Amino acid sequence: MHLPTPPRSAYVHVPFCRHRCGYCDFTLVAGRDDLIDRYLLAIGRELERLDRGIVPNGDSARLPLDTLYLGGGTPSHLGPAGLTRLFDLLGSRLLPGAEAEVSVEANPLDVTRELVAALRGCGVTRVSLGGQSLDATTLAALDRDHSPDDVRRAADRLHAAGFAVSLDLMTAAPSQSLAAVEADLDAAIALGVQHVSVYCLTWEKGTAFESQRTKGILRPVDEPLERAMFETAIDRLEAAGFEHYEVSNFAKPGARCRHNEAYWDCRPWEAFGPGAARFDGRTRTTNHRSTTTWMNKVLAGGDSTGDVDAMSDDEAARERLVVGLRRRDGIDREAFRLATGLDADGLIGPALERWLAGGLAHDDGRRIRLTREGLLVSDSLWTAVLRPSG
Ligand code: SF4
Repeated sequence: MHLPTPPRSAYVHVPFCRHRCGYCDFTLVAGRDDLIDRYLLAIGRELERLDRGIVPNGDSARLPLDTLYLGGGTPSHLGPAGLTRLFDLLGSRLLPGAEAEVSVEANPLDVTRELVAALRGCGVTRVSLGGQSLDATTLAALDRDHSPDDVRRAADRLHAAGFAVSLDLMTAAPSQSLAAVEADLDAAIALGVQHVSVYCLTWEKGTAFESQRTKGILRPVDEPLERAMFETAIDRLEAAGFEHYEVSNFAKPGARCRHNEAYWDCRPWEAFGPGAARFDGRTRTTNHRSTTTWMNKVLAGGDSTGDVDAMSDDEAARERLVVGLRRRDGIDREAFRLATGLDADGLIGPALERWLAGGLAHDDGRRIRLTREGLLVSDSLWTAVLRPSG
């Protein structure tokens, strides 16, 4: 039987952006700063959920945390005063420990001296910069609202103030060349950041990019080029001392994102805000994705839940396999058996044999890992893990 343990991680979704980038389908509202006060009120109300039995021992009103992550949207769009108000609210129910990792996502444009000081005052330790590129042409192609110099200035300011800095880079932007990706990687490495996340542009239904693609105005880069871009990212970042520790993530030694590692270890976590998903080790509960619906429901004292995904033992184990195999560390058979009560080979035996024969996985008898080739095609492998008869 699954017995939930108290979460040691929390995610807070901040759904505000200055403008919606053409490729983005995240839960957010653009140009609706008039909703910020109501959002903060609703976050304060949603945090009261912790009073109903989640905080352990009852000797503290606050949930102790090892990691806290503010994502979005663009949390830095709240500005110094708004972020300070949000952290004050969070501090009434959440208690990041002295060694906790406290991350905030930021748009480079927002990283003023005042914002840096506010982040320090709020106990933030790590800033994830949504830079995407250090090339003006690529930034324009991605419909971003900042310049390469904004990214450089933001990284310098954050480093000078002692923050760990992660940079998001995007590849396969419309018309982007391999040479442009190489230049981006070199520029990112030269920034001296401790962590880089590299994502290929995806064309999501309902986005402006996808509608322009169907009209023939925008064209995705060819698949072989997309793959070459990602291989180049792995080569250059590894040569610069970054460890490729998850499909999309690269870290200098000791600089892995501890919050994401909690997700990938399938540890429980709390989550607040529109579209935010929390997990008790077995059930994933996702808040309503509409910012206004979530706010209205929370403030009316109603249920702001959108989806509930209650997994069986088998489903939870299969999900653990997918997130584990996305990591370079892979799956330790014994640790997997202890965590799930199930045998990895019993779940994916035939698929594993195919992967081994095709050079997509390594197996030393104790640990199963995807090879570089396996990581590159990993999205195509998961059906065999999640729906083996499919
Ligand atoms: S800044 Fe980020 S979250 Fe906001 S619209 Fe652009 S990609 Fe989406």
